[in-house]
Amino acid sequence: MTHTRSASPTVLVSGASIAGPALAYWLDHHGFDVTVVEKASRIRGGGYAIDIRGTALGVVERMGVLPELRRAHVDTRQLSFLDADGSTIAATRPEYVLGDEGHDIEVRRGDLADSLYRLTRDSVEYVFGDSIAGLDDRGDHVDVTFQGGGRRRFDLVVGADGLHSNTRGLVFGPEEQYHRYLGRAFAGFTLPNDFGLEREAVIWNVPGRGAAIYAYGARETVHGFLVFKMDEPPFGAFRDPEAQRDLVAATFPDRQWEVPRLVAAMREADDLFFDIVSQIHMPTWSKGRVALVGDAAYAPSFLSGQGSSVALVGAYVLAGELATRADHAAAFAAYEDVMREFVTVNQAIATTGSTVVTPHTQEEVDARNQALRSRTDLPTNGQGRAAYNALRLPEYGRVR
Ligand SMILES: Cc1cc2nc3c(=O)[nH]c(=O)nc-3n(C[C@H](O)[C@H](O)[C@H](O)COP(=O)(O)OP(=O)(O)OC[C@H]3O[C@@H](n4cnc5c(N)ncnc54)[C@H](O)[C@@H]3O)c2cc1C
Repeated sequence: MTHTRSASPTVLVSGASIAGPALAYWLDHHGFDVTVVEKASRIRGGGYAIDIRGTALGVVERMGVLPELRRAHVDTRQLSFLDADGSTIAATRPEYVLGDEGHDIEVRRGDLADSLYRLTRDSVEYVFGDSIAGLDDRGDHVDVTFQGGGRRRFDLVVGADGLHSNTRGLVFGPEEQYHRYLGRAFAGFTLPNDFGLEREAVIWNVPGRGAAIYAYGARETVHGFLVFKMDEPPFGAFRDPEAQRDLVAATFPDRQWEVPRLVAAMREADDLFFDIVSQIHMPTWSKGRVALVGDAAYAPSFLSGQGSSVALVGAYVLAGELATRADHAAAFAAYEDVMREFVTVNQAIATTGSTVVTPHTQEEVDARNQALRSRTDLPTNGQGRAAYNALRLPEYGRVR
């Protein structure tokens, strides 16, 4: 069918990280007229690496970015686990910890976001530095007001605005009811590579606290990561970066290994990313003319290693269903139908991942270290493959 812009259904997408631009790509591909609003002033970079695996590889391949992502592949070759005093327990290939699929494609999150943005920026309208202030679903369209004062009308609105989704809050109510807290908070940040590390990660653990340095290629910077057990989510720290820095520093008084250097770098970092480790579980991902995709709807948490992959697949399916179903209600229902089981099995991975990456108790630390020393199976070993590939991508063609 010939594409005529004026007759195309209009969709507002909130959030330009992974799910947002991927959804924008597929909606545009199917002939929708897409606007993406992002509260940050530009696409946000970010040093840590994410994996694209299993079913999600098919999505990036169909988008034509697989060769570019293969070039950006950070190719981590070694993971070293350290004892409290910084001595090495074991240095292994990532495959030993992650299972034989290892890192199919591992790219810096910012590189993926940037690549998806570049792919779509000429055909999709991006509005940076703004956010949805109010949504009024009128039945046959949605009236949207923006923080910046603008007002516009769209046929559909999709929230791709992450774990603490603004769209979800406006349409489905407070986060608490959907939020499954996994008992940890973390801080990620960039620091100079004064460690001589290359294509490797070094992970230090004591019960309830973990510190890690990830060196992606021979770059001048590395990614620092501090993760810690907290029984209650630190809600008070969310809107206050200084409170976040104080909380992390107070939780890591350790004078061992590179922990003091990491804490000092975290204090100075201009790209600090602080969050809780949690998942989103919702009974339904749409209401009227508004739907959610990616972390906003079904965050699996970094303990699953599948946040970006699930978001990519969700974006592909949601756009495809919107393009092929009679109306948005049927499309949203089909999107849930196709995605629900895939989401469930990938969220389940987080439970096994937790005792390997961030053991809480001395017993968990000892059991993990014992397995590492004797090279017996870790709980994560091989458990992901079925989940990563649990969905066969539907074919939607190019329909409008
Ligand atoms: C800068 C950054 C760093 C991250 N670091 C980590 C990390 O260290 N560990 C980890 O496990 N996960 C991290 N994540 C989350 C990870 O990228 C996601 O789990 C995964 O990629 C799924 O992507 P998503 O697009 O659904 O959500 P996200 O990647 O969270 O993207 C949500 C997007 O929505 C935007 N947004 C939020 N609120 C609004 C609003 N009101 N209006 C408009 N836009 C809004 C955000 O700025 C962001 O661009 C990070 C995300 C970002 C943006």
